[in-house]
Amino acid sequence: MKQELTCIRCPMGCQLTVEISGDSVTVSGNTCPRGADYGKKEVTAPTRIVTSSVKVRGGELPLVSVKTASDIPKDKIFDVMAEIRRCYTDAPVYVGDILIADAAGTGCAIVATRNVERVNS
Ligand code: SF4
Repeated sequence: MKQELTCIRCPMGCQLTVEISGDSVTVSGNTCPRGADYGKKEVTAPTRIVTSSVKVRGGELPLVSVKTASDIPKDKIFDVMAEIRRCYTDAPVYVGDILIADAAGTGCAIVATRNVERVNS
């Protein structure tokens, strides 16, 4: 089996050809080793970092930007996004705060990527 992919590990976007033959996966078209890693992973166990935002109560902003602490399986993105949409947190929120410890059973945390201070009213 042969698959054509665009490497997303850097802005060069090299066009990769991944060939799967039995247990062997070979990648060509990559300019650097990261492309080979990406191509192999993409056809065997694709993963992604997910970025989104979580609602904040009592904060200077209504939302705080968040991301997964590590790659998650691509087929879990929808479940993780649904859990993030249901999530609320209270201000203050600081970069690195864990807002969901185990997103959709992936074992991956959802962490804040900016600060949102509390509004005194
Ligand atoms: S193969 Fe290397 S140079 Fe090409 S897009 Fe991927 S990371 Fe960038």
